[in-house]
Amino acid sequence: MTMLIPDAEHDDLHLGERPLIVCDIDEVVLEFVSPFMAYLDHNGHELRATSFRLHGNVFNRADGSETPGETVSEMLEAFFEAQDNWQTPVKEAADSLARLSVRADVVFLTAMPPRHREVRRRLLSRHGFDYPMIATEQPKGPAVLALHGERQHPVVFIDDIFVNLQSVRKHVPDTLLVNLMANDTFRALAPHPGDGVDIACDWPHAEDIIKTHFDGR
Ligand SMILES: [Mg+2]
Repeated sequence: MTMLIPDAEHDDLHLGERPLIVCDIDEVVLEFVSPFMAYLDHNGHELRATSFRLHGNVFNRADGSETPGETVSEMLEAFFEAQDNWQTPVKEAADSLARLSVRADVVFLTAMPPRHREVRRRLLSRHGFDYPMIATEQPKGPAVLALHGERQHPVVFIDDIFVNLQSVRKHVPDTLLVNLMANDTFRALAPHPGDGVDIACDWPHAEDIIKTHFDGR
């Protein structure tokens, strides 16, 4: 397999002659919004869920002022450094992926600076997510193309973000695209994931969509 992704950004990857499931991490297998809200609270700030973004929605609890974007970015960075103290698994994700992994290879693709890879790897393994991970800041469509290439097996991509889903749709058009977001409040505020995307309300629903897709191929 030709990997266009630098070695520093991924675990060992050996795909079998079978379907491939490429799966995002934040808000898909690990809770992100709720733990980050708790982290902000711990540091004297609060996230007000008034729109589908972090920057601009964080306020200082002491005086009610909007927290500057630079400070939000710094807290996000510190949160990811300490993520193993905060982030918890999404309900039923591990069980659903374990069942799906009987029929398909599972690879995590997270849009995270590679410097956080090791702490995230430990956190995933602690919760039974023993699948290889790619941590890269490059767009997800080219990353899935680099992984899947010209293979003739079904490929599935699961993510909470419109831009990522549509990036994969553009670069690997045959992909089954599944939109999944754990946090109910932010899911209600999210833009529609776009054409050609199946929307799953939880992991059992996503599992049904994926199994039906495999059965039809
Ligand atoms: Mg995500």
